[in-house]
Amino acid sequence: MLQELRTRPKQGVIDQKMFINGEYVDAASGETFESRNPATNEVIAKVAKGDASDVERAVRAARKAFDEGPWPRMPVAERSAILMKVGAGIRKRLSELAELESMDQGKPISESSHLDIPRSAYNFEFFAEYIKTLSSEANPVDDKFLNYTLREPVGVVATISPWNFPLLLMTWKLGPALACGNTVVAKPASYTPLTTAALGEIMNEAGVPPGVFNVVLGPGGSVGNTLVGHKLVDKVSFTGETVTGATITAEAAKTLKDVSMELGGKAASIIFADCDLDLTIAQTIRAAYLNQGEVCLAMPRLLVERKIYDEFCSRFQRAAEALVLGDPLDPRTTMGPLVDRAHFKTVTDYIEIGKKEGAKILFGGEKPALEAPFSEGNFLKPTAFVDVDQKMRICQEEIFGPVVTIAPFDTEDEAIAIANDVKYGLAGTVFTTNLSRAHRVARRIRAGLIWVNCWFVRDLRTPFGGMKESGIGREGGVRSIEFYSEIKNVCIAL
Ligand code: NAD
Repeated sequence: MLQELRTRPKQGVIDQKMFINGEYVDAASGETFESRNPATNEVIAKVAKGDASDVERAVRAARKAFDEGPWPRMPVAERSAILMKVGAGIRKRLSELAELESMDQGKPISESSHLDIPRSAYNFEFFAEYIKTLSSEANPVDDKFLNYTLREPVGVVATISPWNFPLLLMTWKLGPALACGNTVVAKPASYTPLTTAALGEIMNEAGVPPGVFNVVLGPGGSVGNTLVGHKLVDKVSFTGETVTGATITAEAAKTLKDVSMELGGKAASIIFADCDLDLTIAQTIRAAYLNQGEVCLAMPRLLVERKIYDEFCSRFQRAAEALVLGDPLDPRTTMGPLVDRAHFKTVTDYIEIGKKEGAKILFGGEKPALEAPFSEGNFLKPTAFVDVDQKMRICQEEIFGPVVTIAPFDTEDEAIAIANDVKYGLAGTVFTTNLSRAHRVARRIRAGLIWVNCWFVRDLRTPFGGMKESGIGREGGVRSIEFYSEIKNVCIAL
């Protein structure tokens, strides 16, 4: 399938099947749904539309591979070597996968080829290496007993991911889940199923046994929900909206499954007058508009110390207006379209809500003038509101698009209070050259990830996850291993 991609979309519509037990298969019902290129709204794929019977097939295959197959019992070095080959397989196809991701999601090719796809390969390589370094603990209680621990895979893991970083976020789960010896049923978002499905071919080439990695495609409400509730699934790792996370947590509770929840955000950048303004503008522009603002870790609330507020706003506006909207496959493009027409409507509805609430548009708020076929795409100019009240919906709710609010503050306490006054607690950034203040403010923001004078730096060893309604649990490094494995104590009488 991947070979076809170079000449897409001229070559026609991709026939995207599911991947179950090492083979590409149609939905049992034969039904399909359309996936569109958000830059043009042309159909690029007819995607197998799974239902409960397809979930059943996939879960049974994963269960059999776990209970009877070689994967969980394989020596760690052997499993690690296979996962390194998966990483290499992704790197070998970097340009095709980047193109596929950009056509399916809308992100600029410069991002998919430098960020999404290389990081997807690294998600396998990192955990393939990491798993080899782990040892167990021994607790000799007294001279009559010896306790030691065994780390074992959990079983069948359901991995459910969103559409904003499709392959990157799915592999962030697959890398550690597979390294620990689990088998997986993966469910990518319906807007962006193509790169996760393409992994099947790469897994087969690398020597991953049939049934270890499976992909089901179709609506979250039916396919995803059936997967979460399935008795033979042992754990659920989910990334997506807070409301969906709550639904999944409730469904998983019926069969007492442990869940990992990486959910929504509405983070604030606190920008002090003593910051390095060149650096701050560069970082806050990325944090606002990278991936069209469709980033859970984005910083859509900019809080700026009043002394530099006017200067910040004018420089931020200049930088935003220098972003290049257009064909995501053109390397010069720095901002693509929103993922889907429905999401475009949600985001533009928020712009109307903001205006009605009395906020003022500083720039943007409309579609850019682009030539056909991109005039048909879901493009929206980078947008900023000023004159906001923090109680407004545009300051409280996750918009998940290129729309930010900018507000002045006078004191450190005031800025921290505003930053914390949302239901989310995923991330935050602080821009200052005052070392003590940086540490002080970082400590007081109620969020799982804080960046000082930078943004989106993600070392895979570090804990990742949110507080409040932004999530449950942490992944990353040893915490991923802890989530995707069970620990067993063995006590021996001597
Ligand atoms: P979403 O919640 O609509 O969907 C996510 C996935 O869940 C999709 O695969 C979907 O098909 C599936 N799904 C939907 N309903 C389901 C159900 N009842 N049972 C099982 N699966 C179901 O989210 P989205 O719109 O794809 O992604 C955007 C959201 O993801 C934003 O809120 C964003 O903040 C969040 N996000 C969070 C992180 C993080 O790490 N915290 C990272 C990226 C995105």
